[in-house]
Amino acid sequence: MTSEMYVPFHRPSIGDEELRVVCETLRSGWLTTGEKTADLERSFCARHQAKHGVALSSGTAALHLALAGLDIGPGDEVITTPLTFCATVNAILHVGAKPVLADVLPDGNIDPDEIRRAITVRTKGVIPVHYGGLPCNMEAIWSIAAEHGLHVVEDAAHAAGAGYKGRPIGANGGGAESAAVAFSFYATKNITTGEGGFLTTPNPELAERVRSLSLHGIKKDAWKRYRKGGSWEYSVVECGFKYNLSDLNAALGVAQLGRIDELTEARLRIRRKYDEAFEGVPELETPPDRADCEHAWHLYVLRLSLEDLEGDRADFANDLLAAGVGISVHFIPIQMHPFYLEWSDGKPCCPRSEALFKRIISLPLFPGMTDDEIQHVIESVITIVAARRKRGMAQPLSSAARAAGQSTL
Ligand SMILES: *Cc1c(COP(=O)(O)O)cnc(C)c1O
Repeated sequence: MTSEMYVPFHRPSIGDEELRVVCETLRSGWLTTGEKTADLERSFCARHQAKHGVALSSGTAALHLALAGLDIGPGDEVITTPLTFCATVNAILHVGAKPVLADVLPDGNIDPDEIRRAITVRTKGVIPVHYGGLPCNMEAIWSIAAEHGLHVVEDAAHAAGAGYKGRPIGANGGGAESAAVAFSFYATKNITTGEGGFLTTPNPELAERVRSLSLHGIKKDAWKRYRKGGSWEYSVVECGFKYNLSDLNAALGVAQLGRIDELTEARLRIRRKYDEAFEGVPELETPPDRADCEHAWHLYVLRLSLEDLEGDRADFANDLLAAGVGISVHFIPIQMHPFYLEWSDGKPCCPRSEALFKRIISLPLFPGMTDDEIQHVIESVITIVAARRKRGMAQPLSSAARAAGQSTL
């Protein structure tokens, strides 16, 4: 194990089929939204058992258009989790509604009891985020939503390939379900189109409205206007956005979707190796899983038992970076960002999200990781724990930990 080794936080997994379909699209004479996008919509819906689907330019666009399409706007409140990417709350702000944060459970997902507590007469919707790829307790959320007449829009940016109670996240027609589910195909997500997103919904009118809103609010199949047999005529029926997905991106998506099970399995394998290595270490807590769902393992969020370690999470993270391990932190809770003050009453909120934030580190977890890379991450973590351990005898340090220790002095 050399300390010169560097394991990036993420490396996209792009195979020959991805290269082939993108080149084929480049040569096809059609680059923007067209047949490849239609292909992606069909195959994504089939894989996820969804009734209707619209491919979009990002996961943020999918969240934004879900809310806009459901007529959520000024005067309305939407409840979401503080432990998410800023995109989730920005989408709520983009439609003019007010984000309301409900604290998380120890697993990092929104707490249904906190949703209940946050409901007011102005509440119109809830956006649960499947944190790291672990599905939320949707039964509880759907039943609260039904009781209070709220729209549920799932932020499934981490959850392509995940399952809940025997059905894929994003599925329709098997009982209770959400008004819409938003996926992200951002470069680091479980399947990628470079940049892209997807919305599934059981509601054909919502799908049509979202499709129209994604292309300036032009009515019906506007992308066909430059095709053979397309019409020069079009009518704008409302003020929409420019959120369509290009065929170049969609072609990549079709190829990635064809590999989704292989990619998820590769993530699971790495997760198992991490769990085996870290489960016996008292200073570490491995990320939770549940029997009623299939975790997509978008993230491997290690929890540090800080009371047993010298230093804080930042020290631990710096040691890992010095040892050549690309790490990240998911997420800085929303209320800790300066912009939060603009729409909050300045009151402290969601203490559990902040307590969790203090002790989490996301380790590299991507399908193309080599065994050497996995081993380097494991050994680096174990060595740093040994060096920072408070209890018991001092442990012998490996050269990696010594190098890491020196760089933080
Ligand atoms: C990545 C991400 C998004 C946004 O997706 P984009 O495709 O980058 O717009 C939204 N929510 C969460 C939780 C994410 O991780």
